[in-house]
Amino acid sequence: MDACTLCPRMCRAPRDETAGRGFCALPEGMRIARIAPHLWEEPPISGTRGTGAVFFSGCTLRCAYCQNAEISHRNAGRPFTPRQLSDSLKRLTDMGMQSISLITATPFTEAVLETLDLWKPPVPVVWNTSGYERVETLRRLEGAVDVYLPDLKHFSPQMGRLCAGAADYFDAASAAIREMVRQTGLPAYDAEGIMTRGTLIRHLILPGAAGESIRLLNWIADELPRGIPVSLMQQYVPCNNVAIPGLDRRITRREYRRVADAMAALDLPGFLQGPTSATTDFVPVFNRDESFV
Ligand code: SF4
Repeated sequence: MDACTLCPRMCRAPRDETAGRGFCALPEGMRIARIAPHLWEEPPISGTRGTGAVFFSGCTLRCAYCQNAEISHRNAGRPFTPRQLSDSLKRLTDMGMQSISLITATPFTEAVLETLDLWKPPVPVVWNTSGYERVETLRRLEGAVDVYLPDLKHFSPQMGRLCAGAADYFDAASAAIREMVRQTGLPAYDAEGIMTRGTLIRHLILPGAAGESIRLLNWIADELPRGIPVSLMQQYVPCNNVAIPGLDRRITRREYRRVADAMAALDLPGFLQGPTSATTDFVPVFNRDESFV
């Protein structure tokens, strides 16, 4: 492609099969760092047998504190064609995976659509994203993606700029989430509790930023239809040698309580993820032979 505008960075950079000159530095051809069963998403995504997780290389947001910097900042991964990816998706569903999770796939939107055109999995296809998306790109996914799993990370332009050089993060993510909800409506579940259609919003509480979290929860309560679930995560761990003042610690119990109480007061449905996952033990192994089914 001559001028990529897939994400809100709007680099207009050239990208070909093997190289790219935009912010994400990704080529047009897919690069993938892991394709494997994954058990640690929210229950309606992982179920009891797991989701078939495809971790794409690169990221359009690149948070300074990312746990997966090996892939998000340093683009570790291997080239894949749509045919190869579709064969891997078949293997995952043959293994009994209850959904397919496409994780930070935005830079490869066209190749992913080609993959799903070759073979549409018989289980829900989940678009797992930082939330930093363009509505125009999401519209291309309508009908191909069943469930959206966006983060909603920062409210203020200052935090977006500080953490990811994206002062427009909230403007982009809030418009994107409205579009996701427009496409999928209120959540629907199968008999095993797997979300077959819908949008599930994730929010990771950052240290010293409980006020930001509460503003985001208020936005969800005020602006989205009632019934959109929220997954509130307290497992922040400083990673990637993060050098931002204040982000060098975990969150306190008091910070967590403040945000969880606000979520309860707003009567938002969803999940509270426990502190036991506040460890890097859950970071998967990327880009080794055993990382691929
Ligand atoms: S996908 Fe990459 S090249 Fe395209 S606009 Fe976003 S950051 Fe730039």
